[in-house]
Amino acid sequence: MKILIVGNGGREHALAWKLLQSDRVKQIVCVPGNGGTATLNRCQNLPLQVEDFAGMARFALVHNISLVVVGPELPLSLGITDYLRQQNIKVFGPTQAGAQIESSKAWAKDLMAEAGIPTAQAAVFTEAEPAQAYVAAQGAPIVVKADGLAAGKGVTVAMTVEEAQAAIAAAFDGQFGAAGHRVVIEEFMTGQEVSVLALTDGLTIRPLLPAQDHKRIGDGDTGANTGGMGAYAPAPIMTPELMRRVQQEVLEPAIATLRQRGIDYRGVLYAGLMITPEGEPKVVEFNCRFGDPETQTILPLLETPLEDLLMACAQQRLREMPPIVWKSGASACVVMAAGGYPGTYQKGQVITGMDDAESIGAVVFHAGTQLKHQKILSDGGRVLGVTAIGDTFDQAIANAYEAVERIQFEGAYYRRDIGYRVRTASSS
Ligand code: ATP
Repeated sequence: MKILIVGNGGREHALAWKLLQSDRVKQIVCVPGNGGTATLNRCQNLPLQVEDFAGMARFALVHNISLVVVGPELPLSLGITDYLRQQNIKVFGPTQAGAQIESSKAWAKDLMAEAGIPTAQAAVFTEAEPAQAYVAAQGAPIVVKADGLAAGKGVTVAMTVEEAQAAIAAAFDGQFGAAGHRVVIEEFMTGQEVSVLALTDGLTIRPLLPAQDHKRIGDGDTGANTGGMGAYAPAPIMTPELMRRVQQEVLEPAIATLRQRGIDYRGVLYAGLMITPEGEPKVVEFNCRFGDPETQTILPLLETPLEDLLMACAQQRLREMPPIVWKSGASACVVMAAGGYPGTYQKGQVITGMDDAESIGAVVFHAGTQLKHQKILSDGGRVLGVTAIGDTFDQAIANAYEAVERIQFEGAYYRRDIGYRVRTASSS
């Protein structure tokens, strides 16, 4: 079969890498892909924009693409699935209506309330004044969120009422464009965050291994928020009992309520959870696609052929699939970023040492790179996701860092403490 993957990050490289482990996957085309997907065997990049649905549809029809797998939220929120399905192209990824679970936080909150899913209490505002009054009455800490997609920048966890008021003013002043014309104000939750990504065909929903991400740029979870600086799986905080509760209290009610709303949701439902100090799982957010970098740590542990799972979702026959099989052990991904990220940073630095890193068994997923004149150049803030597996977390983390040390590019930055919660060894 031939598969078209939409996107150009580490997540898409990991999807392509995993799919190509099966002999049945003859060819992968990435739109637009990156330096990593350009250099995989049986994989090629197609230089179209992820919003060019007509271009992708033409290509898929002419080249007999069996399945389109959509990585990022933007094309999903713009209706890529609706467009391609109208032309009888199979797609893994929800429709525009389903993608609202990520593209509108107010919509997601309403769905959670209807489904009885545990989450932070919230109120939604379309004008600044009542929002300010609400915050004044509630007090701090409190969380202010622009309703729409704001590339992770639309959320303020405010420790004071003044900070929350400033965030409300900024949103209604247009700082996040249309995404901030509506604001969700939420109760502040404490606890550990964990990501449970689940595959669904709209009827059945099956979780993947739980993963934990590291959002902040600095060691010890300090500094600015990023797209994610590293991850590991399976997150031990998610005991079998907690996973069972998430299945029953979060995933199944979400799918049932989507179905009641007439939404045929086939793809990933990603539950960003807070495990409260009392051990209760509460939803922080839903995403409508694979997480990045969680996917880079989850897929290396997957034994079941990925194409079987994705195709079963697209064809609504997930229930017939045998249980998902996983390798034992653990996996860790360390993100190497460009110096300065998440602020301003340089692109175009030559990257060396990746073969050396892979010679010790690690996999180097490309997040922001391009292939130019036979060289791999940095081309984004997050540049590489260096991933390794091991029998234990200590081994997986040590292997990933050993691989990281073999890779060079000017200004390379990475956190030294990825997996600090699960390490038993004193240092890496
Ligand atoms: P991203 O796409 O980067 O995950 P987002 O813009 O979709 O983020 P959220 O995931 O809702 O926004 O929030 C971003 C982060 O803010 C969360 O990962 C969490 O750390 C923090 N956060 C959000 N809501 C709450 C809350 N109610 N209580 C405490 N922290 C919160």
